[in-house]
Amino acid sequence: MPQRVLVWLRSDLRLHDQALFAQAQKADCLLPFVCLSPQLFAPQALGFSKTGPFRAQFLFESLADLRSQLRARGSDLCVAVGEPEVLIPEMVKKHRLTEVWTEAEATDEELREQAAVALNLPFSLRRLWGKTLYHLDDLPFPLAEMPHVFTQFRKMIEKQAIIRPCYATPETLPPFPEQEPGILPTLADFGWDSLLREPRAVLSFQGGERPGLKRIHHYIWETQCVKHYKETRNASLGPDYSSKFSPWLALGCVSPRFVYQEIQRFEQAFGANDSTYWLYFELLWRDYFRFVALRAGNRLFARGGLRGHLPPIHQDRDAFQRWCQGETSEAFVNAHMNELRLTGFMSNRGRQNVASYLCHDLHLDWRWGAAWFEHALIDYDVCSNWANWLYIAGVGNDPREHRYFNIAKQATRYDAKGDYTRYWTT
Ligand SMILES: Cc1cc2nc3c(=O)[nH]c(=O)nc-3n(C[C@H](O)[C@H](O)[C@H](O)COP(=O)(O)OP(=O)(O)OC[C@H]3O[C@@H](n4cnc5c(N)ncnc54)[C@H](O)[C@@H]3O)c2cc1C
Repeated sequence: MPQRVLVWLRSDLRLHDQALFAQAQKADCLLPFVCLSPQLFAPQALGFSKTGPFRAQFLFESLADLRSQLRARGSDLCVAVGEPEVLIPEMVKKHRLTEVWTEAEATDEELREQAAVALNLPFSLRRLWGKTLYHLDDLPFPLAEMPHVFTQFRKMIEKQAIIRPCYATPETLPPFPEQEPGILPTLADFGWDSLLREPRAVLSFQGGERPGLKRIHHYIWETQCVKHYKETRNASLGPDYSSKFSPWLALGCVSPRFVYQEIQRFEQAFGANDSTYWLYFELLWRDYFRFVALRAGNRLFARGGLRGHLPPIHQDRDAFQRWCQGETSEAFVNAHMNELRLTGFMSNRGRQNVASYLCHDLHLDWRWGAAWFEHALIDYDVCSNWANWLYIAGVGNDPREHRYFNIAKQATRYDAKGDYTRYWTT
């Protein structure tokens, strides 16, 4: 029987180190398919959508880049707006497809969506693990027995697990079926004006695999900033204090294994140091939070988190609005919230501070903050976002329950001359 495959892409928008394309190369027919649910762009209970305009724009650019790369290899990218559990089975029927493959997910909504698609297919949905540096099957412990604390997780992984090599990038791909590929969406389709690029932004982030690879090349090879990463990573001004790989990693435009491979090549050429190790170390945090999410199930989104601990909170929507808009009584917090609102990005140090402020100074529901980040961040990743919020809120895995960042002390330490705060005080 001919093998006719639909590859359902979500946050895995690339050709390099991509299990789905690498394994589909011998198929008789291949339909790469992206389904955009209108739900992602519709206002939710707190008054804003899950996906805000910065991430939407980055997503649309990533789709355009992938489509042009697929076309160069004799294929195409079909993009449709609607519900996957309806559209994918329709495609299967129309094109007499024999298989549907997708990347395995870790969190509730994504798993439910996959289950709904699977239910409407005449065969099983094939799920392949991707997204992490270490493959789920290579963890040196059963997921249920994963160490609670990051340091223990890291030590076991570093001693006992290996990172698989990258898949080769396909040069050609199987024929695309007789199918209109669909017009790529724009912000206007979802009711937004086109984005005004903020001139103060740390980077003009451009979605897609090729811009992502270019950024990796810039950070590791061209400027060799990776050599000083550990010393610069707590800064907040300028393009190169940290890698800025996160938006491309979040949408799968670049693979964490590829980043790791480039770090290793750099170390072989110029020597390893604490900084080159530290970039890998941060990617390990990313893995850790994905495995935490997979194990936690819906506790990832519960107010009591992994501990079931419910600290008292205020239901103060006005205070929350002021936090979102950068109108609190703390200039350091406001500057970060302005940067986020106007550009879709904020440094890690900034995220820790504004999250702590929302949880431990304003005593608001940490899930409101996580929802605003989900809307506003260009690099939103469900596991990294919600698990980091749990951690700061003191209901995650951290042995220290109260992760309090003293805003005045942090501002003195990380913005001693007030340059950052002035820069983002509108
Ligand atoms: C409250 C809060 C929410 C966050 N939400 C997200 C999110 O939605 N998406 C996201 O990618 N990161 C999130 N982070 C983690 C971190 O802030 C960003 O990954 C980082 O700031 C992105 O900038 P960079 O790529 O220059 O990072 P670098 O410092 O250059 O780090 C390299 C990569 O390591 C990973 N990484 C670094 N720190 C973390 C971390 N703490 N947790 C997980 N991965 C990490 C990222 O993939 C990052 O691109 C959050 C952190 C906090 C405190």
